[in-house]
Amino acid sequence: MRLRLIRHATLAIEYNGHHLLVDPMLDDAETRAAIENTPNQRKNPLVPLPIPAAEVVEDVEAVLVTHTHSDHWDGSAAELIRKNLPLFGQAEDEDKFRQQGFSNVQAVAQPLAWKDIEISRTGGQHGKGAIGKAMAPVSGFVLRAKGEPTLYIAGDTIWCSDVETALTGFKPDIVVVNVGAAQFLEGGAITMTAEDVIETCRAAGKARVVAVHMESINHCLLSRADLAFQLEAARLSKQVSIPLDGEFVAL
Ligand SMILES: [Zn+2]
Repeated sequence: MRLRLIRHATLAIEYNGHHLLVDPMLDDAETRAAIENTPNQRKNPLVPLPIPAAEVVEDVEAVLVTHTHSDHWDGSAAELIRKNLPLFGQAEDEDKFRQQGFSNVQAVAQPLAWKDIEISRTGGQHGKGAIGKAMAPVSGFVLRAKGEPTLYIAGDTIWCSDVETALTGFKPDIVVVNVGAAQFLEGGAITMTAEDVIETCRAAGKARVVAVHMESINHCLLSRADLAFQLEAARLSKQVSIPLDGEFVAL
């Protein structure tokens, strides 16, 4: 398999000989307002795509969307992605995709098979308490195929029992976590902090952890450098990849 970070949570994955795209956010830089009630009021996305959006969608054979917040599924994605491509997501987003004209939408409730790839849905907590409830529902996905490493894409979740359950249940070889410690003015982080990544590493055994979802959206306050510093202090740097936008992750 190959795994490339495009930007934020958008991943291009080659898996079992097929090209998959995860959580496409393809809008140009600074074309959307800052998220309301958040610190650091700057227009989103903060940075441009590393390659043209048309190139991101070019070879894609299927799309996985963990949830439809605008930093995971935006107007450009809905416009540029071919309407008949298989689009996997959570049941709660099915109607939205159909209304946008997508004809091959599949909600992942139970594990399903596509091109000899098993796709399973995992749960998550997009924040604690009331804010977590308001941000729900969110999903993650696990991909498995014969001869391929097991890949767990955790989605927008803090460290919680859903993540722990996925790690113990699927024993993934690669774990992609959405970091950035995204936050509103009140209510704590709604995506992983450095401490959450550390907890994930400790529960993930020998799995390679890949940290994304940083430096692209205004309220993600934890930078790659901050994360790297805290992982170094926890002696976990070797286990975690922190790719730059456009970078292929060495696996
Ligand atoms: Zn997000």
